[in-house]
This record gives sequence, C-alpha cells and structure tokens, in this order.
Amino acid sequence: MQVRYNYRLYPTGGQRQALARAFGCARVVYNDGLRARQEAHAAGLPYVTDVELSARLTKAKTTLERAWLGGVSSVVLQQALADLNAAYRNFFASIRGERRGPKIGPPRFRSRKDRRQAIRFTANARFKILPGGKLRLPKIGDVPVRWSRPLPCRPSSVTVIQDSTGRYFASFVVESQVGELPRTEPVTGIDLGLKHFAVLSDGTKVSSPRFLRRAEKNLKRRQRDLSRKRKGSRNRDKARLKVARAHARVADARRNFHHQLSTTLIRENQAVAVEDLAVRGLARTRLAKSIHDAGWSGFVGMLEYKALLYGRTFIRIGRFEPTSRTCSACGTKDGPKPLHVREWMCPACGARLDRDINAAVNVARAAGLAVTACGAQVRPGVPPPAQRSETGTHPKSRRWSA
Ligand SMILES: [Zn+2]
Repeated sequence: MQVRYNYRLYPTGGQRQALARAFGCARVVYNDGLRARQEAHAAGLPYVTDVELSARLTKAKTTLERAWLGGVSSVVLQQALADLNAAYRNFFASIRGERRGPKIGPPRFRSRKDRRQAIRFTANARFKILPGGKLRLPKIGDVPVRWSRPLPCRPSSVTVIQDSTGRYFASFVVESQVGELPRTEPVTGIDLGLKHFAVLSDGTKVSSPRFLRRAEKNLKRRQRDLSRKRKGSRNRDKARLKVARAHARVADARRNFHHQLSTTLIRENQAVAVEDLAVRGLARTRLAKSIHDAGWSGFVGMLEYKALLYGRTFIRIGRFEPTSRTCSACGTKDGPKPLHVREWMCPACGARLDRDINAAVNVARAAGLAVTACGAQVRPGVPPPAQRSETGTHPKSRRWSA
C-alpha cells in the first residue's frame, strides 16, 4: 500500500518565485481543462476525454497565449490534468452512489487565493534526492529539506505544497511493504467522545495532550485579538496572519497526537473497533463543531491504514448501535442517555456503569470482539477476531455499513 511522508522545505527566494510560477501554471492548466469540459457539457457535446485534454495542452503550449507554460516541468502540467480527471471520476462515482462518505460536488476552479497550492512531480519528472540531502526539482532547483525522519525507500512521486501560512512541504508517496507485527492478544473497543478524546474498553481514558491544549489556547487568544482589531486596519492584517499560523500549529499538534495514539493502539492490540461516526447526521447540530475540531475522522483513517499496514484487524461498527444505553454487563437496553449523564445504574442487573467505558465495551462487543466489562482480558478459548474480509458478513456491521 502507499503511504505519505511529509517534510518541511526551505526554498530560497529564487526557488520560491519558480514555485509560485509552477503553482500558477498548474492552476491555469487545471482551469483550462475544467472550462473545456464545462463548455462542451453546456453545448451538449460529449465529455472531453483525458487523452483529448492532454492533446489540447500540448497544442496550447505552441500558441502565443500559452507559450509561457513551457517554463514549467511538463510533468507538473500533466499531473494538474490528472488531478482534474480524478476530481471528475470521484464526482461521477459519487453521483452513482459508489463512494463512501458525504456526496461530493463537481470540480471547481482553482484560485491563487486557495489556502493550499500544490504541484506534483512523478518519477518520470526525474526529481532527485541529492547526496547532500537537497531535493532536486526540475525547473525549480535544489531545495533544502528538513529530514525529520528517514524516508524508507525510493519515493514514486513528490507533491510540493504551500500552505495558507506560506510554509512549504514535500509530500513523498512511498510504496510500503506490509510489515506484519508479531501477533498479540488484546482487542480493544474505542469510544470517541467529547469529554475525553477516546475511552478504551479496558477503562483507559485518553485526553488531548498538553501540547495540543496549549496550541488550542493560543489559537483562541489570537482569534480574540483579531476580533478586536478595526476592519481594514493594518493591525488586523497582522492579527489575521497570526490566527492562520496558530491554526496551522493546532492542526500539526493534533496530527502528531493522532499519529502517536493510533500507532500505540495498533501496536498493542490485535484488533480495534470504533463506532462509525455519524458525522453526516450531526452536521447540522451543535456537536458538529466539536466533531470537526476533534478531527475524529482523520484519526479513524489512521487506525484503518495502520491496521492494514501492520496486519491488524480494524472494525467499524454501525452508527446506530445503541452503545451508550445498553448495559455491558447484562445486555439490557435502557432509555436514552443525554450527554451530561456520565454514570448510570442498570435497572435490570444493578451494575454501575461509566458512560464512556460502557460504550467502548459495547463497541468492541458489537464488532464481535470478546472483551470483559472490566478490563480488556480476552476470555480463554475464544476464537481469534474475524479477518477483514469476514467482517463484512457480520450481521451488525453489514446492516449499517454504507
Ligand atoms: Zn445490566
């Protein structure tokens, strides 16, 4: 499977100009292609194929109007078209209902004001990591890189990104060997919550680490500062940049935390189960912002790919399982439990239940994992958890999986 490795880039002044030109050219090629397809569609003509778009690009480069495209690696331009084609394929798949997750709209025009600018070089662009550690990009130059961790093998492509705060990154795609970890016994259900980031079926409660809370606090302060600045003033512009930087720092801190936690969970467990988050269903509720802020879907995505990478089992259970109101001791379903109810007593068996741990145990059970209500001891004599391919036939997961 393919994994990404990201590193900070420190281009020189001249390289930054060359990158800005390349971002601009990629954008123009993307937008030209999009316009061609939109115009054909409006005129009732057939869909302009990928091959046709590519041919039109080659021809455009010979015209006076678009001759300047020749100043940029042609691979970058072809990759801009590839992005457009992928955007169309995803859009069509979404219309046909073949895609998981929320519906996606048709491709949109790219703007130089977009928060993220990106270009991609594939292997045939002959980008190269030099012995001294710089990254050689055709028609850009030898760009300094901060190698924060080793790149495991030769990358098949690199995307150069400029984010909203003006930082540059290189994102390498690497074909990763599935390195299975030695088999281990524990299995864990995970309840993602608002009070704690995650609660595990063995009773562990995981809160956001201090570095993330500090970054979030700083962001709030910056936002407050911004709201006090007069509209149109220069100080407001400065404050806005500070907010953007603080946002980026929160996003980085959160991603680091998610990486640390997901790696630990996958390492220590043979199988993990989470509830499929009702992100779409909650999109219009007050909870939506918290869900967005906590970045749960990003975290769940990491669990899923790391499980695949290390030979673990990842199970997503249906989002209508009543995990918070079923007693994990006797299985009795009780009435609804509003968010402020942190503890409740089962009317049938009298067990005192911690809302979140109880939910985590139920998540594990619904996924077919054998966990006990107190502690994640796997009961002896229980068959190993179902393999990935089998989980789809599990009645509880099939019912709700989209
Ligand atoms: Zn009970």
